[in-house]
Amino acid sequence: MDTVTILGTRGSIPRAGQEFTRYGGDTICVLVELAGETILLDAGTGLLNCDIPGGTEEKPIPLLLSHFHADHLLGLPMAPLLMDTDNHIDIYAQSRFGMDAEERIERLLSPPIWPVTLELLPAWIRYRELPNTLQLGAVTVETMEGCHPDGVTLMKLRGGGKSIVFLTDCTYTEDIFPKLTGFARGCDLMLCDGQYSDEEWKTRSAFGHNTWKRAAQLGLACGAKKIRIIHHDPFHTDRMLEEAEPQLSALHPDCSFALAREEIKL
Ligand SMILES: [Zn+2]
Ligand SMILES: [Zn+2]
Repeated sequence: MDTVTILGTRGSIPRAGQEFTRYGGDTICVLVELAGETILLDAGTGLLNCDIPGGTEEKPIPLLLSHFHADHLLGLPMAPLLMDTDNHIDIYAQSRFGMDAEERIERLLSPPIWPVTLELLPAWIRYRELPNTLQLGAVTVETMEGCHPDGVTLMKLRGGGKSIVFLTDCTYTEDIFPKLTGFARGCDLMLCDGQYSDEEWKTRSAFGHNTWKRAAQLGLACGAKKIRIIHHDPFHTDRMLEEAEPQLSALHPDCSFALAREEIKL
């Protein structure tokens, strides 16, 4: 069964407490099980909710990173997958500003910011440049540059006749909107950044995100079968998001805010 599990839904910084139980407090991490392949997208604190078996030397678990902002990496230092000497992980990301994934992650996991450096993590980690097209077994990954401060890699995963697009941390500007509708056309599932309400957007349009309405409109424009809004604002409580849900369902019959650890069957 092809399944996408949203292990971390939140954007910018993790939250905890009873106001964040339904829609989740962990930052972005997605587990994709597609055409027999197991692939992780981003390494926010949701990575701590990942309990899949670790990869082997012959078949490492691929972890694809959209970009290097901290909310997408914060799960790495404590991830169970990286705590076992038998586990093999391949981390893929596009180099930016002359630095590859290893150098970027090393900067985050170094004293005095963090005491456990990369070389102290028990798992076998390899770093790979994420090309424009990548074949992972039966899954083809295609990438596209998004619109976000410091850059972001948007991804489409196709396999077994199904497709998933992962559009985190991107402003859907007038320029990029038509390119995105082409990139994501007819996808089975679109995961898209919709951090703000229309009201919040008035003061935050330069932060590299979107309104949830704009995200739903993008899904509608490209004929996505299912749309889940991700990267929830850290101040959006369960009550606020629940109250906003009708705005999404009015635009598309299967569009909603991603729930904590939501499992979506394709
Ligand atoms: Zn983010
Ligand atoms: Zn970001």
